[in-house]
Amino acid sequence: MRDLIDLSSGQVVEAMPDAAIKALADVVSKEQITCYAPIYGEPALRAAVAGHYANRGGTDSDLDDITITAGARHGLFCATAVVARGGEVLVPQPHWSHYPEVMRLAGAHPVFVPGLPATGLLVDPDLLEAARTPATKAVIVNSPVNPTGAVYDSSTMAAIRDWARRLGVRLIVDDIYWAYGDEGAAGPQANEHEVVVGGAAKVHALAGVRVGWVWADPAVTAAVRGVVEHTTGPVSTLAQAAVTAVLDNDSGMPDRVRRVTRQRVHAIRAMADVPLLRVVRPRGGIYLCLDASALAAVQPQWRDDRLLCAVLAEQAGVRLRAGSTFGLPGHLRMCVAVPPDVLSEAARRLAVFVRAAKTTTDIKSD
Ligand code: PMP
Repeated sequence: MRDLIDLSSGQVVEAMPDAAIKALADVVSKEQITCYAPIYGEPALRAAVAGHYANRGGTDSDLDDITITAGARHGLFCATAVVARGGEVLVPQPHWSHYPEVMRLAGAHPVFVPGLPATGLLVDPDLLEAARTPATKAVIVNSPVNPTGAVYDSSTMAAIRDWARRLGVRLIVDDIYWAYGDEGAAGPQANEHEVVVGGAAKVHALAGVRVGWVWADPAVTAAVRGVVEHTTGPVSTLAQAAVTAVLDNDSGMPDRVRRVTRQRVHAIRAMADVPLLRVVRPRGGIYLCLDASALAAVQPQWRDDRLLCAVLAEQAGVRLRAGSTFGLPGHLRMCVAVPPDVLSEAARRLAVFVRAAKTTTDIKSD
């Protein structure tokens, strides 16, 4: 098999922040990992998370309202298990591939709400209201959206908040990509209507460290802590030290965010030269979605986007993710948070593959 460019996974390929490396070395040299960390998270990390939200919005946050989880994914599981067990969660579609199963495992039923093409496939209160039933307990909003990179503007977010609050539907904010979105947007605010889930994977380039958190009101926090205690228990002392250091002092973050923005622009330009794959223009995030319907017309089996991904990995040497895993069939998702030369080479390979596929079909139909 030829070498593969793997752009299927959602990770920011960057050097690890210096502050995290130093913190890890410190914890090891002081031999601080023989005991369990506090179950709900080290106070220093919970204070750093609270400080992070205070910096973003001047909002009212307290370390007692923060619970540390084994990644944002576990945070979403805990939050859903507490606020929506036995009920329905409205999930704007397209959506992160893992929401449906995370919710089912947490005892809730995901109800998909297709976004409007006119707004970049985002939802609004009218669409949510049309999907609401007496069983609706929560709605999840993720911005920038994984996979499309569409971004909710402040007025739509405010309208969704008002709608949810009025009807007693809990808003779960998945804040994991916050820095890759709208720079000026106010941070979220946990309260009795809203639960915020975040993590260090994307913005701080620490996907492998597996630290996330839930910020919620005291009642939800108490219940979330019960779920943490009986599922993962405390998160690794090492991991918590790395993230504490980074939240307090990630001097590389603004550059990282600018770099990812440049990479996104680079990928859009590079992919514009690939025939039959149309770029769905993102406003933020770390991904690019490609509409593959014109390419699928070349080979009817490629309408199955999972099959098309397997063919592209095998024959073009580029691995992407099938849009159907995100509720966006006929599309391909590409992670763009990788160096520009890798993106250029991926685009070149895809162009070679598509041109050859087109030529073969043209010859056959002559
Ligand atoms: N939410 C979204 C929208 C994501 O894309 C991801 C990871 N791809 C997560 C949550 C989970 O983040 P973590 O790696 O911290 O579990």
